[in-house]
Amino acid sequence: MQSLKDKDKQYIWHPFTSLTSAPEPIPIVKGEGVYLVDETGNRYIDAISSWWVNIHGHAHPYIAEKIYQQALQLEQVIFAGFTHRPAIELAERLMAVLPGNFSKIFYSDNGSTSTEVAVKMGLQYWWNKSSVKKTEKIKILAFKNSYHGDTFGAMSVSDRSIFTMAFQDKLFDVIFIDTPTPENIGELKEVIRLHAQHTAAFIYEPLLQGAGGMKMYDALLMDELIFTCQQNNIICIADEVMTGFGRTGRLFASEYMKAKPDIICLSKGLTGGTMALGVTACTQNIVDAFLSEDELKTFFHGHSFTANPLACTAALASLDLLQKDSCQQNLASICSNNRNFIEELKKYNNVKNARCLGTIIAFEYISDDYDYLNNISQVITTYMLQKGIYMRPLGNTIYLMPPYCITMEELHVVYNAVIMLIKDEVDSQKNNAIKEMIE
Ligand SMILES: *Cc1c(COP(=O)(O)O)cnc(C)c1O
Repeated sequence: MQSLKDKDKQYIWHPFTSLTSAPEPIPIVKGEGVYLVDETGNRYIDAISSWWVNIHGHAHPYIAEKIYQQALQLEQVIFAGFTHRPAIELAERLMAVLPGNFSKIFYSDNGSTSTEVAVKMGLQYWWNKSSVKKTEKIKILAFKNSYHGDTFGAMSVSDRSIFTMAFQDKLFDVIFIDTPTPENIGELKEVIRLHAQHTAAFIYEPLLQGAGGMKMYDALLMDELIFTCQQNNIICIADEVMTGFGRTGRLFASEYMKAKPDIICLSKGLTGGTMALGVTACTQNIVDAFLSEDELKTFFHGHSFTANPLACTAALASLDLLQKDSCQQNLASICSNNRNFIEELKKYNNVKNARCLGTIIAFEYISDDYDYLNNISQVITTYMLQKGIYMRPLGNTIYLMPPYCITMEELHVVYNAVIMLIKDEVDSQKNNAIKEMIE
């Protein structure tokens, strides 16, 4: 009989994975809180929340029960011409907590579609507002090193990289600017003013560029950029697909800024990481440009599974858990332990740029000369798996992003393993392996 691994190899094409050089995937048969359990019974602490989505741990009984009850009631219905309670309740509850004056929720089914929707809304806003259906405000402004997803629009507004190289000439033009620093802020504001006349929208990952290497930047400076954009009639789109729902220590990263976005994108933690769902919320000002008798001004966008009732139910259940005192307290403990841990990390010579934002810790290991394709990441992943921890460094950027239900004991198990990894003398075998790969 073929093993799961053999059948996988025969039939499956995995995301972001080489078909030739990647190690065999590990069949996971069970999730339990922060743990993933494999076929042979090995347990791994999921220290990156399964690609940043899981916030309450795996197979949470409360969320599972709610999904089950909803599945018996209504599993899916077309969302054009019909509506349902889970979508309405979720919109109402999100509206109460979102960072800004939002007035409508548009559903889709993942992070890339949520940013795709936001960019289309931003562009069509100006098209709708022009009486001749032609506008010069057609450009998008984005950060260098940004990541907003893998569909074509989302790829276009993401920085060009090895991942988009094959599609370079199919991606639309975007004005890329640096993230703000005290040195460049004046210049950035100048660039924004310079391009304002032709720019429809500015899309940004607030305070933290995730896939771009967990790079963090300052809230006060970001405030200045958002204000400058809004003063110059540029729609501000906060991509909180990753930073939303407590990740940065507050419910949304945009809460760290005074200036509020006009559009916000959510996914990943939205359903507690149980089901695929995307949300794009916008202010009344955006909505107003679509309030028209002219049918051509309709927002013609949708997906088969828009506002899937099971996914909306999972999101409502996740919000219930997130708003509990016990969850908020544990979240706060993770944040304060993280702050202490980076002070410890800073003592090591082979740790560069140790930083943290809420539940996220990141640092560069040894040097920042190695890019994503270098398999130092794979070496570290394998090393950590042997220690019962799942991590997936971005190149030599090691980061932790645990589910909020992790206990402080479990968190310190992870910290200790990280310390073992960076202590050269502990495991010379591992170091030799890493050195060989670097050379
Ligand atoms: C992951 C991510 C996306 C894309 O979300 P998917 O659900 O993977 O399509 C978009 N923006 C940010 C900031 C992300 O981290």
